[in-house]
Amino acid sequence: MAVAPLGSGRYAVATEHGAYLVDVPEHRCTCPDHAFRGERCKHLRRVAIEITEGAVPPPSHVAAGCAVCSTTTFVHRDAPRPHLCDRHALSRGDLATDRETGATVLVVGVSPRRADEVRIESHDCTVAEYETNRSYPGDDPVVTAVFPAGAEFDDGTTPDSLRLYSFPVSRLRRLDTGNE
Ligand SMILES: [Zn+2]
Ligand SMILES: [Zn+2]
Repeated sequence: MAVAPLGSGRYAVATEHGAYLVDVPEHRCTCPDHAFRGERCKHLRRVAIEITEGAVPPPSHVAAGCAVCSTTTFVHRDAPRPHLCDRHALSRGDLATDRETGATVLVVGVSPRRADEVRIESHDCTVAEYETNRSYPGDDPVVTAVFPAGAEFDDGTTPDSLRLYSFPVSRLRRLDTGNE
């Protein structure tokens, strides 16, 4: 049996005898077993198993492509964009490494806006056009971050910890995961 999520808690279950529609919140299936005998049919059971195994999203979640790598990830249907997979997820308060400078930054926010839409006023260009960002995708969501208080640049100066910097999300690597 092949299970495909349709959204809103509904799933298509394809079998060699035909395809059926399973509605998990309503606890219904369109197969004859369920319709005529009111049984908890094998299609409902199959969907429950696949949800438990993580093969299909639970009723409250939808499948979405990660904004960085397009990997399918299950997100709550009300989750704000951008959708990011576990590897690329960054959220407020995360420490991350800037791949260009090796500096550690503290994430303040993840914006749904793209690097080629957000302007850096002080340089009169977009985040995507900024010199050290040009090798990152223009459609990356923009992450705002600050340098943690007390951080030092290589030259020994201490950056202004209140200044917000904007990065394409794939330029930052979350510190705890060691992802590439
Ligand atoms: Zn059924
Ligand atoms: Zn990803």
